[in-house]
Amino acid sequence: MGKLFVISAPSGTGKTSLIQSVLDDPQSSKTKLGISCTTREKRLKEEHGVSYFFISQQEFVNRVNKNEFLEYAKVFGNFYGTPKDWVLSILEKGENVILELDIQGALQVRQTFPDAKTIFIIPPSYEELSNRLEKRAQDPYEEIQTRLKEAKKEVSIGKDFNQVIVNDDFNEALADLKNFIFSDNLPSRERQEISRNSLNLLLD
Ligand code: 5GP
Repeated sequence: MGKLFVISAPSGTGKTSLIQSVLDDPQSSKTKLGISCTTREKRLKEEHGVSYFFISQQEFVNRVNKNEFLEYAKVFGNFYGTPKDWVLSILEKGENVILELDIQGALQVRQTFPDAKTIFIIPPSYEELSNRLEKRAQDPYEEIQTRLKEAKKEVSIGKDFNQVIVNDDFNEALADLKNFIFSDNLPSRERQEISRNSLNLLLD
């Protein structure tokens, strides 16, 4: 059986870019990223079957009823679900799977697969997270406030994941993530201290 990694992070933490860089590494030849189904609108530059499978609410409900999802959740008003058969088939082939899920989904997967390795990526501070969300200019002001509020709840759960990684510096965070996924190694003592300090700041 391959290994299952579940990566979660508050919106705007940079987890998608980090995961893309992990997958660009030659060591990732036996590591696949799950493609979820979602009812949200396709954004510019996104492709059906690449970023997500964009499906209607009706189809989503049908798939829930047919028990086709390993987990599913409503995130910021839209439904997201992980196709179960795909994940199982990859793991059975002995390959690894990375799932990029919201915190509720991560908890659901951990219940089904207690051996799943859960990773929580945090921003260095809420100020920095707020700056990144504003810079991304993807969401209106109210939506950014909602995401920041949500981030606080997520941190209170994600702090107990197998590995917490702080994205204060992209390359450092990427090295921590690759270490954990490809070599089963913990971040250096210095990096662990930085992430502990950030976590304490976020939990204050
Ligand atoms: P976005 O719409 O910005 O791509 O994603 C919004 C949130 O939904 C992110 O936290 C993302 O990780 C999460 N997400 C994406 N796919 C799934 C999924 O299949 N299940 C769950 N529970 N969350 C997902």
